[in-house]
Amino acid sequence: MSASSAKPFELCGQTIKPGSRALIEMPAAQLYTNTPLHIPVHVVHGRQPGPVLLVCAAIHGDELNGVEIIRRLLQFQQLKRLKGTLVAVPVVNVFGFIHKSRYLPDRRDLNRCFPGSEAGSLGSRMAWLFKTEILDNCSHAIDLHTGAINRGNLPQVRANLASDATAEMAHAFGVPVVMNSVLREGTFREVAEEQEVPVITYEAGEALRFEEASIRIGVRGVLNVMRHLKMLPAKRSSSVREPTVAQSSQWVRADKDGSFRPLVGLGARVRRGQSLGFISSPFADDDGIEVIAPCSGILVGRNHLPLVNEGEALFHIARFEEVREVAEHLEEFTSNILEDGPVVDGEPPIVS
Ligand SMILES: [Zn+2]
Repeated sequence: MSASSAKPFELCGQTIKPGSRALIEMPAAQLYTNTPLHIPVHVVHGRQPGPVLLVCAAIHGDELNGVEIIRRLLQFQQLKRLKGTLVAVPVVNVFGFIHKSRYLPDRRDLNRCFPGSEAGSLGSRMAWLFKTEILDNCSHAIDLHTGAINRGNLPQVRANLASDATAEMAHAFGVPVVMNSVLREGTFREVAEEQEVPVITYEAGEALRFEEASIRIGVRGVLNVMRHLKMLPAKRSSSVREPTVAQSSQWVRADKDGSFRPLVGLGARVRRGQSLGFISSPFADDDGIEVIAPCSGILVGRNHLPLVNEGEALFHIARFEEVREVAEHLEEFTSNILEDGPVVDGEPPIVS
C-alpha cells in the first residue's frame, strides 16, 4: 500500500469513499409537470490522491458523441488504478437533451450563460448550479462538443494555449489538430480558466449523431490526458505524436443560394484557389458557381446539408505553416483509430 491514501470526496452533499464509485442525481430543476429533473454525475474516486478531472458533455443538448465517450470511458478497467478523482457528467443540458435541442427551453445557449447567478434566468441558474456544485470542486476539465446540426467537425482540440497547463493538456489529448482559440464570453471554458482550472474542448462529428471514429478518438484522448496528469499509469510505449497548432482559421461562405455539391471532405488538404465545390440552382441545367478556397489549410469543418442560403458557412479551413505534415499525420492517425482505438471489451463498433 502507498503511504498516502485519498480522503473521502464530497460532492453535492454526498461523501464518496476512496476506491469507490457513485452516481449522484444532482437536482437541477422541476418541469412544469411537477417532474423533478436531475443531472446525473458519475464519480470515480481513487484510493490515492491526485487531480480531480471533470469530463462533461452535452452542454449543447444535441451534441451526443461526448455522451457516448463518457459511457465508454466509465467502463475502462484501468479506472481501478485511478489516482485522484474522475467526475463525469454525460449530459449537462438535460433540458436540451430531452428535446434533442442545442438550447434550453427559453432558447438560450447554456454555453453563453456562465458563470450564471442564483437568481438569474433559467440558463443563468443552471450555469451557476453547475459551476458551484461541480466545477468548483474540480482541478482540471475536458468539455466534449460536436459541430451543430448538419455540420461536421474534424476531431480537434480547442484551447487557450496562453495557459501552460491548458496547452499541456491539449497536446496530451493526442489529436493531430489543435486550434488555439480565444475564450468566448459566457462559456464554460472561460469561467473554468478564470478560476485557474485548465480546460480543453474536444470537438468532433456533428450534432444528433454517433460517430465511431470521433468517439474512439475522444475516449483515447481523455485517457491520454489522465495519463499526462498521472491519474493513470503511463503506457509502456508512449508514441503520441505531437499535434500541430492552428493559430487561425477561416470560414468559406456561400456566395449564392442553391444546391451545394462539395468536392472535399473533412481532413482534406486544400490549396488557395482550389475548387471546393459548386452551388447551382436545383432547377437550372448549368454548373452554377464554383466555391474557391480563399486560403490553404486543412478542412476542419463542413456543411453536410446540400441546400444553402447565401452567407451560410460551407467550409472551415484551419491554417498551418506545415500543411503537408498535418495532412500526412491526419491520414495515418485516422487509419489507425478504427484498427487500434480503445474499445470496451465485447462491444461491437457503431457503423455509420
Ligand atoms: Zn457545442
